[in-house]
Amino acid sequence: MSTTTRHILIIGGGLAGPCLALSLARRNIRSTIFEIRPTRSDMGGSISLGPNALQVLDRYAGVYDQIRAAGFSYHRFGAYADDGEKFGEIAAGEEGKGAEGYPSVRIMRSTLHKRKTSKGVTAYFEDGSNAKGDILIGADGMHSKVRQHVLGSEAPTPTFDGMCIVYGFLPASSAIPPSADFAFPAFMFTPSGVFMTIPIDPEGKTLAWVINQSVEERSRDEWRELERSGEAARLAKADYDDIQTQPVRSLLDNADETKARLWAAYSIPELPKWHKSRVCLIGDAAHGLPPNGGQGSAMAFEDAAILTRLLTSKDTTNYDQLFRQFEAIRRPRIKRLRQLSKASGAAKAKSGRVGWYVKKWAFRAFFAWNRGVLQHAEQPTYDVDQVNLEV
Ligand SMILES: Cc1cc2nc3c(=O)[nH]c(=O)nc-3n(C[C@H](O)[C@H](O)[C@H](O)COP(=O)(O)OP(=O)(O)OC[C@H]3O[C@@H](n4cnc5c(N)ncnc54)[C@H](O)[C@@H]3O)c2cc1C
Repeated sequence: MSTTTRHILIIGGGLAGPCLALSLARRNIRSTIFEIRPTRSDMGGSISLGPNALQVLDRYAGVYDQIRAAGFSYHRFGAYADDGEKFGEIAAGEEGKGAEGYPSVRIMRSTLHKRKTSKGVTAYFEDGSNAKGDILIGADGMHSKVRQHVLGSEAPTPTFDGMCIVYGFLPASSAIPPSADFAFPAFMFTPSGVFMTIPIDPEGKTLAWVINQSVEERSRDEWRELERSGEAARLAKADYDDIQTQPVRSLLDNADETKARLWAAYSIPELPKWHKSRVCLIGDAAHGLPPNGGQGSAMAFEDAAILTRLLTSKDTTNYDQLFRQFEAIRRPRIKRLRQLSKASGAAKAKSGRVGWYVKKWAFRAFFAWNRGVLQHAEQPTYDVDQVNLEV
């Protein structure tokens, strides 16, 4: 274990920052998190954590049991068409199978945050005061300020991905299942895009509904107004007006437009570098992907695990070299996820009636080829403990 790294400053107390801090604390390395928000945010609603994310939260952050107990565990998604036809299922992890041996968990982002930061390693500073540390980790998300420090004029502005995620929550009792054997969670693929519904609590009493809505980019205030006025939900609901299939119809008819939330999707291109001297980026600050793949948090957690391994396996103060190694290990993985996220985005996008006809046949063929169960291409094969650090 490294004896040279005494204190790590972490900018950003979202997902990557606290995961890294907990992971370091369990290995006796002190860190301080600087978070700009004074309180936990409810932005983003609920989040899916796949087996690779849970692996890190278990083996590194040590909070898996609490997270599993607070969220909804599942092993598969049902995949349906707009008329209720079942295409098949999408595997989401299985205990005791593959490298990770974990299910998936859907959990409120704010609950996840509470679990991860309740161990006393987080310090929030509102007054902007300075602290000295050995290294600084930029875990400050998509709109990172640390990225600007690392890249200077090369730092890209996040680009809008042409859609926002509109979502809300309802008691599960307000959803009408289409058949007796229908099981949540489910994706309904439609000409208007994908409609997702998934429980968010251990007993499955509350359902989240989520729609990817194609829209023009707006200013921060305009996004806020689109949400506050209920217009975001009205636009999303209008796209699904002619879909009578359950549970889409009952969920949307029961959804209160003014309570629906939205999240505008932004991403950044591949960065020329993630570090400069003693400063390194992780999570969305380093590689903010569009949300289509549902893997952003897992990538942030994997970053935290690999960085922890590097910091604890080397007795070095040559951080430039260490961060170079971190980048070399993580870049191919992120590149692959970026490709998967693009493919997933295309499958979930609005297609119109003609495009949908073609897509529907493609879905049928794809699921049939995979004998009804689609395996996630990456998840069973990535084990953070098996990753070779000597690249
Ligand atoms: C709608 C939506 C749904 C998603 N669903 C999923 C999903 O189901 N599964 C999944 O794996 N991923 C999902 N993602 C992606 C995932 O949320 C992100 O990849 C993940 O949150 C990245 O973690 P992070 O810690 O890098 O950044 P964040 O979680 O964004 O945290 C960054 C933190 O830094 C703070 N900060 C910002 N600037 C400063 C500053 N100057 N000083 C101090 N603090 C600062 C912010 O307040 C924030 O707390 C989704 C994303 C979106 C937009």
